[in-house]
Amino acid sequence: MTVFYAVVEGDPLDSAKGSRVLGSCRSTIQGEDGVRRRMTLLGDGAWCDACKSAGEIVRGGDLPDRRRMRDMVSGGRHQAVDGDQVICKCERHPRIISVYGRKFTITYDRDDARAPGDITPHIYGKQPSAESNVPVATHDERFMLSDANGRLLRDTYTQRFGKPWVVSDDGLSFLATWESGILNGVNFQGHHVTDGFILKAYRDNVGIPTVGCGHRIVPSDHIQVGQTISLERARAFKKHDLERMERRLNNDVHVHVPLFQFEYDALVSIVYNCGPNLGADGIIRKINMGNYSGMFDFILTYRIGNNPGLPPRRYTEARLFASGVYDASH
Ligand SMILES: [Zn+2]
Repeated sequence: MTVFYAVVEGDPLDSAKGSRVLGSCRSTIQGEDGVRRRMTLLGDGAWCDACKSAGEIVRGGDLPDRRRMRDMVSGGRHQAVDGDQVICKCERHPRIISVYGRKFTITYDRDDARAPGDITPHIYGKQPSAESNVPVATHDERFMLSDANGRLLRDTYTQRFGKPWVVSDDGLSFLATWESGILNGVNFQGHHVTDGFILKAYRDNVGIPTVGCGHRIVPSDHIQVGQTISLERARAFKKHDLERMERRLNNDVHVHVPLFQFEYDALVSIVYNCGPNLGADGIIRKINMGNYSGMFDFILTYRIGNNPGLPPRRYTEARLFASGVYDASH
């Protein structure tokens, strides 16, 4: 008899340290650490950090579909289990290591093929157990995989953050790099940038009067384009602007699915760019559907309009959401 474990978001792949599975199902499983994580289904995505690509999860071959839970909300797709594979760009498709969903077990052996509920082989007279002759996987060995520092993977993976979420320092740098071009020095438009702030008011690439860290100047600010403000005032604008965005994302009637820190930071960057009201509605509606693996493609084209500066920004935001790579260079 072989024991299989469910796969949930955050579970690693055996390709590289940063590889991880994304969850999609509404059902969650509580890990040994007490955190509940979304289950993953066949057809969902995973990020492979070896080849830097996202791939689809497919059957690894060991466990037949009839022993897998089906998610009727998602159209009846079957759950993923440890040993399933990811079709990324790697030559050898990496396998999923179940770490966080191990309270959900499925036992399987060749006698299962003759179980009362499993009538298909009898009806069609097929040999029932072809797929159960696959050698038994050594799950506990895989479970002990460690990173380059010898720490168990299960101890090094990101914990999901619950509310209230707070944007991280990496998220702030990511945001400032997009709003001001660079963190310090002269950006590609010739503006001087100090700690991520442009202190001399300017028009952005679509003509909107802007100052500081992408703050849109409103009449009550009493700032003219070309006027220089203090670093202190720029910081105050940013704090105020960020509070509006974070309030929107943290409000219970808005985002109500769990997020990793980097997923939240990506959302902050998007909402900061699009605004906390109408500009946030679409992305919040999408994330609440719980289709995490669909977010990458959705973010790529989110409210880009005719602004040529936005597609590259959205690409890095999508990548941040999907993989936790905080790289805003452009
Ligand atoms: Zn790969």
